[in-house]
Amino acid sequence: MQVSMLAGGVAGTKPVRELVTVALDAMAAAVPAGPVPRGGPAAVVAADLDLLPDVGIGEVPALDQLSRLLVAGSVDPTHPWCAAHLHGPPLAVAAAADLVASILNPSMDSWDQAPSASELERVLTRALARLVGHDDALITSGGTESNLLGLLMARERFGWVQPVCGRTAHHSVARAAWLLGLPEPLLVDCEDGRLRVDHLTELLAGLDGPAVVVATAGTTDTGAVDPIARIRAAAPDAWLHVDAAYGGAVLFSDRLAPLLDGVADADSVGMDLHKFGWQPIAAGVFTSRRPLSALDVTADYLNAADDTEAGLPDLLGRSLRTSRRPDAFKIAVTLRALGRQGIGLLVEQCCAAAAGVADLVDAHPGLTLWARPELSTVVFRPVGADDAEVAAIRRELLDDGTAVLGRAAVDGRLWLKLTLLRPGATAPEYADLLDLVAS
Ligand SMILES: *Cc1c(COP(=O)(O)O)cnc(C)c1O
Repeated sequence: MQVSMLAGGVAGTKPVRELVTVALDAMAAAVPAGPVPRGGPAAVVAADLDLLPDVGIGEVPALDQLSRLLVAGSVDPTHPWCAAHLHGPPLAVAAAADLVASILNPSMDSWDQAPSASELERVLTRALARLVGHDDALITSGGTESNLLGLLMARERFGWVQPVCGRTAHHSVARAAWLLGLPEPLLVDCEDGRLRVDHLTELLAGLDGPAVVVATAGTTDTGAVDPIARIRAAAPDAWLHVDAAYGGAVLFSDRLAPLLDGVADADSVGMDLHKFGWQPIAAGVFTSRRPLSALDVTADYLNAADDTEAGLPDLLGRSLRTSRRPDAFKIAVTLRALGRQGIGLLVEQCCAAAAGVADLVDAHPGLTLWARPELSTVVFRPVGADDAEVAAIRRELLDDGTAVLGRAAVDGRLWLKLTLLRPGATAPEYADLLDLVAS
């Protein structure tokens, strides 16, 4: 059997180049499933596959076989009709950059494991903090971790805080409260998917202690953006965390950035560049109005005080994690390649496509539009269908391999949704799908 080759080092590019060719050839030869493999979970059963054989089958056969299997059994976020979730197709340049990161394998917990990677992360996070109007930023695994950090920073600031968020906030806010030993969030009523500031004011007036208010810039269900500036005005003493996992990327666009007016006055903001941003997962960013020091910790083997005094950067306080992938690298390559305007344009295209699809829904006699999209999510339902029928339509399209539509429980009813995250998407691509849903 062939001896396994290492990826890194001077000799590493040769075996990786050969295996990448095997992988890409296998992907090209596999039969693509369309937006989603037909036949549901039964169609992707792999129980007969021995994934821990006593004797391995070899690198090339294993990579070839499992790559084909994965292609044939994957949903395809580059397909127009794969549009359920905040699950985007990564840019080729970002995927290639991620390969470089995988090969070199810097670990972001100490300078002596990641000299250049940690410097690039420092410079990138500066730039992203500036984009928000903030002072500091960290790389996270995504919105879940960013929300946890937001609540954690608030608790560190006040000792104890009452979480408060809109009813449409992400479930990870309540989980973060649970993890941190904080009370369950007080839920603010929403109107048109957005937190109602008058109700927030009323809830805050009834509180004794400090609060952390979580505003959502782009809710997962509808893409609605909470009124950040008015929330800040209504809660001047609270820690304000903005969950901009979805909507944060509008800051790359001069035209759309006003949607997030007031964001610089929030105490912390999370945004996910693996949603809008077209990065391979994970690519979360957490920004803070003040320099971040709450996560500082010393472990002698990673950041001894004398090493830090001697000038080695102390990285351990830049994350809750210890070993950590250099997710900043692919983001840095992408942003340098496309620039702020390039990314902004892609965000604008998706939002424009959603507006066009909303027009089609509006004009369709068999469909009802929930509301005009604020970002790139179109929420709609067939006229005259009950919730069980709406749920069944989504499952049928999934099961026969036709489309991946999202579902959203909004205003007490079940809706279907299209989340457009594919650069270059156009409204006419969705006309036939809308007809299918309505029929
Ligand atoms: C996706 C999402 C999250 C969770 O982010 P992950 O990157 O999946 O951890 C949090 N908040 C909102 C509004 C989201 O859309």
